[in-house]
Amino acid sequence: MMKKILLINTGGTFSSRPGENGLTPALSSEEIGTLLGGFDPALSITPEDHCSLDSSNITPDHWRTLALRIGEDVERWDGVVLIHGTDTMAYTASMLSFMLQNIPIPVVLTGSQMPLGVPMSDAADNLRCALQMAASGRGGVFVAFDRKIMLGCRTSKVRTVSFNAFESINYPYVGEVNAFGLQLRLEETPPAGPFRLQVDYSDRISVLKLFPGMDPDIFRFLQERGYEGIYIEGFGLGGVPFLKSDFTAEIRRASQSGLPILVGSQCRYEGSNLSVYETGQRILDCGGIPVHDMTQEAVVTKLMWCLGQSKRREDIQRLFRENLVQEVRVP
Ligand code: ASP
Repeated sequence: MMKKILLINTGGTFSSRPGENGLTPALSSEEIGTLLGGFDPALSITPEDHCSLDSSNITPDHWRTLALRIGEDVERWDGVVLIHGTDTMAYTASMLSFMLQNIPIPVVLTGSQMPLGVPMSDAADNLRCALQMAASGRGGVFVAFDRKIMLGCRTSKVRTVSFNAFESINYPYVGEVNAFGLQLRLEETPPAGPFRLQVDYSDRISVLKLFPGMDPDIFRFLQERGYEGIYIEGFGLGGVPFLKSDFTAEIRRASQSGLPILVGSQCRYEGSNLSVYETGQRILDCGGIPVHDMTQEAVVTKLMWCLGQSKRREDIQRLFRENLVQEVRVP
């Protein structure tokens, strides 16, 4: 039996053409098939167009409608491939991981650094790898790029123009494509529980990247404007200042008033640990919630998703202590 793959196009460089104002998404999924000279004949591929956007214009509502499209019909397909712009692909991959928890089929995002049809483009190769992964039977949300397969909630875009634009952060690669074909490295682990399609979210969140001398007054401003959760990217292992600009006092005040304040690191690799320095321990004493080794994309989307389940600070804290989809290693 041929594997049935749903191929959803959302735009990005992959399907872009030069326009009056630079590269802009233009190709439909049918045109992508035509340019490729047809899709892999060993697979039964159903092309579909969701939107045609540079991924800078992707919004949380696109995540919701994509998750519904995939999740409501999940038994119809052996796998799903999503063509997506690379700029926000890691956010979409992370949010779909939370919205489609324990999905029994592979959902594989891919895109490219150069448009399909341009000589030297990586588009056709990336799509081929994504389709192979989508036919693998391994449940979960993944990114396929530059012959690597990564867990969706662990990916970040780390380079702007090189073909190896994505990395798996603080987590092993799931697989790669080499001379033996698709090689999945980790042992197949069955989904941890029943498939849960949960698409509620809140986008009333904010990310504060600290810099020396930053005014902690920003907290009050955000709280007054109705923001429901804040993620602070602190220094190094996750430190925040407590002397001249006293962030810890603001974390205490905001936490006591019920606003969840998450704290992690500006460093991309190796995660945060708030228990090492005084600048970290004070955060824990004040009610700050640690995010350990999560990517920024996973923290942002998990916070949005958790706030869709509950607005209570205690519930958000509890959910951030849990490893829902391999997005975090809680020590
Ligand atoms: N600006 C493009 C996008 O994210 C970049 C890409 O796809 O590589 O849609």
